[in-house]
Amino acid sequence: MRTDELLALDRAHVWHPYGPMPGRAEPLVVASASGVRLHLAEPSQGRTELIDGMSSWWSAVHGYNHPVLNEAARGQLDRMSHVMFGGLTHEPAVRLAARLVEITPEPLRHVFLSDSGSVAVEVAAKMCLQYWRSLGRPDKRRLLTWRGGYHGDTWQPMSVCDPEGGMHQLWSGVLQQQVFVDEPPAAYEESYAELLRTTVARHADELAAVIVEPVVQGAGGMRFHDPAYLRVLREACDAHGVLLVFDEIATGFGRTGTLFAADQAGVSPDVMCLGKALTGGYLSMAATLCTGTVADGISQGEVPVLAHGPTFMGNPLASAVACASIDLLLSQDWAREVKRIEAGLRDGLAGTEDLPGVRDVRVLGAIGVVQLDHEVDMAAATRAAVREGVWLRPFRDLVYTMPPYVTEDADLARICAAVRAAATAG
Ligand code: PMP
Repeated sequence: MRTDELLALDRAHVWHPYGPMPGRAEPLVVASASGVRLHLAEPSQGRTELIDGMSSWWSAVHGYNHPVLNEAARGQLDRMSHVMFGGLTHEPAVRLAARLVEITPEPLRHVFLSDSGSVAVEVAAKMCLQYWRSLGRPDKRRLLTWRGGYHGDTWQPMSVCDPEGGMHQLWSGVLQQQVFVDEPPAAYEESYAELLRTTVARHADELAAVIVEPVVQGAGGMRFHDPAYLRVLREACDAHGVLLVFDEIATGFGRTGTLFAADQAGVSPDVMCLGKALTGGYLSMAATLCTGTVADGISQGEVPVLAHGPTFMGNPLASAVACASIDLLLSQDWAREVKRIEAGLRDGLAGTEDLPGVRDVRVLGAIGVVQLDHEVDMAAATRAAVREGVWLRPFRDLVYTMPPYVTEDADLARICAAVRAAATAG
């Protein structure tokens, strides 16, 4: 199809994330992708290929078109691309579940394999509410979270996204009213820890769970916080009979420098959500893990089943690729690569804080963020990055990158140059 025809059809019929938006820039047409490069169907700003600074929203940690992941997909495709999971099971899903239990914090034991991060969070909420229902405490049905979070675009996740600054204000009268506490400061402050403790204590009777993104609040503002707050939450939840959910959909599989962000605090949640990099960004799959205690609680209830069963649950193709992606990650010194990227981002973004309009620059693991003192002009910033030969997706007051772990130093330097160009565009 010719690119102009494709774009006309796209304009006429296709929804994009958070679209359509008046005056939005036309999307670029990607013909293929390999390694860390997106190959465009037609040149844009003189570029036919772009270095991907986004890992397709945290997910493509090994880059694109990876021979090992391709082989895993092909091998499974020849056997069975999908089969219903009700009453049937298969090796790829079982192997994946066992592998996830092996690599995640100790008491997590049961794995629900769904098809997107938002659904993984829905399932987590359902598990927690149902656990308390089963124990005769249906009044424990609210969730507590801190402001500035982002957990997805379906109903329960939207209810725990930031109610004011966030993207889901439109639904504020419709969503379940959750309990919010201020967003965590970057550094440890005892007064904030105390606020967490007292808020959990005050609402314990109505709380099913606390849900947070550990260490990095992603799409809600790309902010980092001291892992010690996770220990505070664990202690408060234990003291007051509240479950703890970590949403590691963005942070899981090494992005922050540890395999899971929670590892930095040495604490385990009762429920954990994974997605994005689970399949190396190849296929739509997410997972919700819970402890034996949560699963046993649910199975002791009046309705002893977790009533959730998506059609594509445990998809064999995605499971096989997820297993291969985890093996690939763990077979390498991935932590060294993430450290290398962290160092490259620190070097490459050094001095950016002195540019006009820049409020803050922060780097953690394979994540680099430039926060502006104004809303970014998305179209101008994207154009500026493309001119540098890099794909970025700035939003709100943020220009940021989370490159694939396989990004070489020279490409990383170009990503940093593009972040700087985007931060000063418009
Ligand atoms: N939780 C977090 C922390 C996320 O970053 C995201 C996606 N940005 C989600 C949940 C939702 O995942 P998905 O887009 O796959 O539904």
